[in-house]
Amino acid sequence: MTLSTSALRDRIATLGSEIAGRVIVPGDSDYDAARTVLFGGIDRRPAAVVKVAGVDDIRAVIALARETGAELAVRSGGHSAKGDSTTDGGLVIDLREMRALDIDPVEKTAWAETGLTASDVAQAAAEHGLAIGFGDTGSVGIGGITLGGGIGYLVRKHGMTIDNLLAAELVTADGQFVRADPATNPELFWALRGGGGNFGVVTRFQYRLVDLPEIVGGMLFLPATAETIERFVALADEAPQELSTIANVMNCPPMPFVDEAWHGKVVIFGLMCFAGDAAAGEAALRPFRELAKLGGLDAPIADLVKPMTYPEMFPPDDPDYHPTAVSLNLLLDRIDRDTATTMLDRLEASDASLRAVQIRVMGGAMARVPVDATAFAHRQSPIMVNLAAFYEGEDDKPRRQAWIEELAGAIRQSDTGAYVNFVGDEGEERIHDAYPGETYRRLARVKRDFDPDNLFHLNQNIQPA
Ligand SMILES: Cc1cc2nc3c(=O)[nH]c(=O)nc-3n(C[C@H](O)[C@H](O)[C@H](O)COP(=O)(O)OP(=O)(O)OC[C@H]3O[C@@H](n4cnc5c(N)ncnc54)[C@H](O)[C@@H]3O)c2cc1C
Repeated sequence: MTLSTSALRDRIATLGSEIAGRVIVPGDSDYDAARTVLFGGIDRRPAAVVKVAGVDDIRAVIALARETGAELAVRSGGHSAKGDSTTDGGLVIDLREMRALDIDPVEKTAWAETGLTASDVAQAAAEHGLAIGFGDTGSVGIGGITLGGGIGYLVRKHGMTIDNLLAAELVTADGQFVRADPATNPELFWALRGGGGNFGVVTRFQYRLVDLPEIVGGMLFLPATAETIERFVALADEAPQELSTIANVMNCPPMPFVDEAWHGKVVIFGLMCFAGDAAAGEAALRPFRELAKLGGLDAPIADLVKPMTYPEMFPPDDPDYHPTAVSLNLLLDRIDRDTATTMLDRLEASDASLRAVQIRVMGGAMARVPVDATAFAHRQSPIMVNLAAFYEGEDDKPRRQAWIEELAGAIRQSDTGAYVNFVGDEGEERIHDAYPGETYRRLARVKRDFDPDNLFHLNQNIQPA
């Protein structure tokens, strides 16, 4: 049943008195702040943003959505590129005030509510010399990143975020509060590890933490030539698994610690993280620093790599930063000289204010988990690439989109897969790229069992079997 807008409004008006959290509606002073998500260009106006305080509140909003037919969005950190954590005219379950974090330093585990960000959890764990890998950005919500997989600075040494997930608690479409772990609802637990927000509203996750008092990490700026890019990738592949890297080949941002002469030039902006002791880290990083010579310099353009704690990899994010960007995710088998040349040529030819080819060499612990152990199906893909370009206004968007698509076409190899957390609004086929073959069919069966009416459809949606 779908109620009229005014009837929905009346029901929302009573919701506030039924729940412990807050209901924010159009006209409230914090409505605009509450409906804003990370990406600019997403300007939706929900009928209500409900800052839920716990399981009962979530149940109440789910019941209201079912009763009224209102569209339901679920928000953790608000970083969905597709804008899935907001809706026009529907209801948003906003988890950001559910921030309880319970770390057991003896057992090395943590229960974390899904209003927390990657940086929140990393900082609290680091106080005990412990860590869990999320992604490269502190403000990403643990809700979205964990449900999609989680590929970050510890991926080669300690696997994906989902490889360190012990259990989850969630409210399902019929209002049940259920637990999922290897022994309880094991199929659901399989699906939650990569299958996204299709199965319910996760209230908290239990993670395994690893000892990590210190890393050697930070930013390393190198000259970008076809040789340095090719060699960077080869070194990242050969490196001890303690080292995870992200090579952003991009026009150099005007950062104060980079010589002005390089601002705007295409460089390798490396993000390096060695999850081990300082001496071994220095040794592993030396060949990367020496790439400067291959690029015709005596030393890196800027070298901020040093011993630090893992949370220091997450510089503070500006809450008022709302980029407008197009992006595309690819999985590659290799990056040889020709591929690197193509990337460089296209980056040089673009005048987007920011354009980047982000290269992540994977493998290590992530690749040792059997492919069918979780709903993330691309563990054997050695390299992940994200193409991105900023656009300035809707008129500018089509040519930026054309640029990434042309570049993707020029470098694509045999692997047609995609990592769901980097897929935007790209249609049904791309959801199947993320969940090929039996992975999709298995997810569809779990979807049928836990959300047969597809209440949770604002996501990379799995159709119930
Ligand atoms: C700047 C930036 C950097 C990134 N870097 C990385 C990276 O290094 N590695 C990586 O793996 N990913 C990375 N990502 C991708 C990121 O993991 C996804 O965008 C993720 O979905 C964002 O999660 P969120 O909670 O912030 O987003 P939201 O928009 O709040 O959530 C996204 C979707 O996840 C689902 N969801 C979220 N929370 C819950 C919940 N508690 N219960 C049920 N469903 C839920 C919903 O379907 C929701 O629509 C990055 C994204 C950005 C924007």
